[in-house]
Amino acid sequence: MSSGKELTDLDRSIYEWQLDVPGFGDEGQAKLRNTTALVSRCGGLGGPICLSLAAAGFGKIIIAHAGDLRLDDLNRQILMRHEDVGSARSESAKRTLSSFNPHVEVEVVPENITEDNAEALVAKADIVFSAAPLFEERLLMNQECVRQNKLLVDSAMYNLEGRIIPVIPGDSACLACLYPEIPPRWKRRFPVIGAVSALAANIGAMEGIKLLTGLGTANANRMIYFDSGTMRFQTIQLKRNSECKVCGKRS
Ligand SMILES: [Zn+2]
Repeated sequence: MSSGKELTDLDRSIYEWQLDVPGFGDEGQAKLRNTTALVSRCGGLGGPICLSLAAAGFGKIIIAHAGDLRLDDLNRQILMRHEDVGSARSESAKRTLSSFNPHVEVEVVPENITEDNAEALVAKADIVFSAAPLFEERLLMNQECVRQNKLLVDSAMYNLEGRIIPVIPGDSACLACLYPEIPPRWKRRFPVIGAVSALAANIGAMEGIKLLTGLGTANANRMIYFDSGTMRFQTIQLKRNSECKVCGKRS
């Protein structure tokens, strides 16, 4: 985390209602103000994550997402606008975030996470919010965060269910402890209602805020699972796998 930036009077005016949250206060706000978050993808999951990070007053958000906006993205990608169909998703996301909170710096990288860019992108961030639909990207983010000792919140959803896994490298189970290999039959196309992806996203955003500020109890070593069909929520205990090829040798 970059240090030094104190809260200004303007910060206190904007974030007044959350400064009142017990256990958060000026100290929590200053931590967020000095935090750079990398969000991989800004779609149905990453978009609401970005919006909540901007609302909370993170210092900088880096968005990595390739491709142009399509009409069928608009049932869930809440940072996008109809008039932007056919143009870059990442730029549309930046415009929305910058008009929502111009005091948050937004950098866009019009690329998805690959082996070529993961190391450099993770190096620029204090915390990573992984919100990619593909296991290849999620496992790559996990590997890079463990290697660089960066906090990670992996958020995922399918149909009416969500799964959120916060990771403290070297301390809690990583994504690869749970998924050593890409699960078979994982498909790019998935059923999704925007309210469900936004629910998973905001649980992930809150876990990240807790990891950074010490507010409440972060769920490292647990998976938060919900089924929005019944609104049943569970936290499932995870265990580090000593044989994990990503974090197994780290202490
Ligand atoms: Zn692991």
